[in-house]
Amino acid sequence: MDNTGKIEGLTRRQITPCVMCGHGLMHDGSLSFYRVRIDFLLADVGAIKRRQGLELMMGSVLLAEVMSPDENLAVAASRDEALVCLSCALRYPLVAILDACQHREEVSCARS
Ligand SMILES: [Zn+2]
Repeated sequence: MDNTGKIEGLTRRQITPCVMCGHGLMHDGSLSFYRVRIDFLLADVGAIKRRQGLELMMGSVLLAEVMSPDENLAVAASRDEALVCLSCALRYPLVAILDACQHREEVSCARS
């Protein structure tokens, strides 16, 4: 699936150093880097219980699927976004990148 036409590019003002190493995004000679967007989600226990109750009442998961709205079972708690050079993207696990993003005070690590 090619959806690259729908993904926003970056202007010069939006380009910041790598959130992990602090170097420029192409410091390792690579012409590619990552924009990492991490959504932290929490389970909506009320919605999950409603869904389970409907499934029990209907006696069928498939029937409940057809008869109920496609309600969110998780809610977004936060969103972080950062730029990561290719070397760091290959070296660090996602949770380390999230931690670096959350503890950074620079503008590009926007929370919403
Ligand atoms: Zn880096």
